[in-house]
Amino acid sequence: MTNPLLHTQGLPAFAQIQAEHINPAIDSIIRDNTQQLADLLGHLTQPSWQNLAAPLEDAEDRLDKAFAPVSHLNSVVNTPQLRDAYNSALQSLTAYHTALGQNNALYQAYQTLADSSEFAHLSQAQQQAINLALRDFRLSGVNLAAEQKARFAEIKARLSQLTSLFANQVLDATQNFFHTITNEAELKGLPALLIQQAKQLAEQKNSPGWVFSLDIPVYLQIMTQAENAALRELFYTAYMTRASDQGPQAGQWNNQPVMEEILQLRLEMARLLGFKHYAEYSLASKMASTPQQVLDFLHQLAEQSRPMAEQELAELTQWVQEIYGKTHLAVWDIPYYSERLKEARYSISQEFLRAYFPLPKVLSGLFSTIERLFNVAVRAQECDELWHSDARMYGLYRKGELIAQCYVDLYAREGKKGGAWMGQCQVRRATNSGLQLPVAFLVCNFSAPVGQTPSLLTHQEVTTLFHEFGHGLHHMLSQIDVAAVSGINGVAWDAVELPSQFLENFCWQKSVLKELSSHYETGEPLNDEWLDKMLAAKNFQSALQMLRQLEFAIFDMRLHMEYGSAGFTSVQALLDAVRQHTAVIIPPAFNRFQLSFTHIFAGGYAAGYYSYKWAEVLSSDAFAAFEENGLFDAATGAKFLHCILERGGAVDAMQCFTDFRGREPSVEALLRHSGIHHVTNH
Ligand code: ZN
Repeated sequence: MTNPLLHTQGLPAFAQIQAEHINPAIDSIIRDNTQQLADLLGHLTQPSWQNLAAPLEDAEDRLDKAFAPVSHLNSVVNTPQLRDAYNSALQSLTAYHTALGQNNALYQAYQTLADSSEFAHLSQAQQQAINLALRDFRLSGVNLAAEQKARFAEIKARLSQLTSLFANQVLDATQNFFHTITNEAELKGLPALLIQQAKQLAEQKNSPGWVFSLDIPVYLQIMTQAENAALRELFYTAYMTRASDQGPQAGQWNNQPVMEEILQLRLEMARLLGFKHYAEYSLASKMASTPQQVLDFLHQLAEQSRPMAEQELAELTQWVQEIYGKTHLAVWDIPYYSERLKEARYSISQEFLRAYFPLPKVLSGLFSTIERLFNVAVRAQECDELWHSDARMYGLYRKGELIAQCYVDLYAREGKKGGAWMGQCQVRRATNSGLQLPVAFLVCNFSAPVGQTPSLLTHQEVTTLFHEFGHGLHHMLSQIDVAAVSGINGVAWDAVELPSQFLENFCWQKSVLKELSSHYETGEPLNDEWLDKMLAAKNFQSALQMLRQLEFAIFDMRLHMEYGSAGFTSVQALLDAVRQHTAVIIPPAFNRFQLSFTHIFAGGYAAGYYSYKWAEVLSSDAFAAFEENGLFDAATGAKFLHCILERGGAVDAMQCFTDFRGREPSVEALLRHSGIHHVTNH
């Protein structure tokens, strides 16, 4: 029997990969790599790029290319078999990487190479790769005593299990919730397409009436469109208590103990390495220098946004009272009435706009934007090795030559992780047999087509698609040939959102919106009248949204600074305190948002959620250059491409930015783009 995961030439054979292939393949590559490393270190006299870094990159790349499709499948076509195999492979990988990071002989070899006369003659990318490797050795505890090393490895292994469990419990809690409606009156206000989907789901489940899941598009539509307040309350409660001790699924998949253990272990790990807390450890590899610098940055933005957020909430409350005679707004009323106020004020709604954004039109508009900005064409490619009939393959071409490829999988479905992301299938790098081209995964969770109706996106979803393609371009347009710093590899975490947030700005430009829109029945693009309304509505409640993000970011940073310290009582108490200080909307006591906060407990954003805002300062300021010079100014586009997208992690993030902008970043553009200005309080 041949194992498709062991054929790492060319693209993954998705259609052939079975759960039972996973562990034999990963284990066998790890065994080979371990043996190869031992042989290499045994014979090494004078470490050089060619005899040390290059063969290790080959070995690592083989492992990455075997695991990338596994990790991808686990996220997009999850089954119990796949999940088990994935989790066990993840354990082997974690153990392998921990051992590699703690390998003293290897660390010494890298240090010798860094100190050798050869170093000065290496390319900037090679030098940076070596410097980052040395940093990561230190962060992996290479300098620890044997006993501490063992404990460090134990912690790493346990953390990887726990974070995976945290994500799975959120997924299970989300996917096991269904709400059946049999009384048609309760559907009032819901979009026809959503109702149709709910009917389909009811039929699939042999259930009467309409069945609604807790998938994010469903949840958002119910929160903003359902006239029935009890239905909104039910969905709010279910969503905000996922994986907790509260709500309709109370006690099932409870992430509370998982979260506590994650926090304890992170603290212990940071202290083992000599850091004060996990926040300090996290920032050791980021663009920001200290946790206090980050908190100051977040608090400053919060102060600048708070007066306007209070005003936005007061306006809403007053308007609802005038129009509906309703004096109290519950949290599940706020999105609903906000949407009504927005409609009243701008005569526009997300649901109305949906008809103008059929996915095929949006994709072609996105591709033409990319082509004009960066002189690269995106074309559909044939591919018979896909994991699902929704998946597609695209090629990126410059002057007719293929430079990168991209898998695209855009519809929500059962077994697919929620949210949107860009993943790496393979990275651009120089190999003995030539250049390996970068290949990306682009994943979203949009509503699938229903019958003859194409997938219709809200403008928010259009923005999400641009965002993920921004990450994709960073990966795919890289000109770096050293894997460790190619594409987004080696890019400081708090700078990695620069290209993605940068590209979002184009969804707010009239000329681009005309290209992106076409009514799915009439073919009409959005006319000037609608576009003006849409742009006027852009910053509707932007200060409230800003504060919400700041609340999450401050909570995350303080949690990883204060957990386990003398004054710390509980995660909930800290979150409450942050809300008292930062938020203007205080959620009910049963809210357990933190237990589904996968960004920080299952993703890479621990003590790093601020990165979104940090990078938004960079991306807004970068986009301002296009406002100054012309949206599709060729020279500005080329400069952004060369200074930022093509350089990956080979050049320090601040250097990339100042090379592009000619100065350090300023928050001015972000506040201006968000429409946040000084408000005087009465
Ligand atoms: Zn992103």
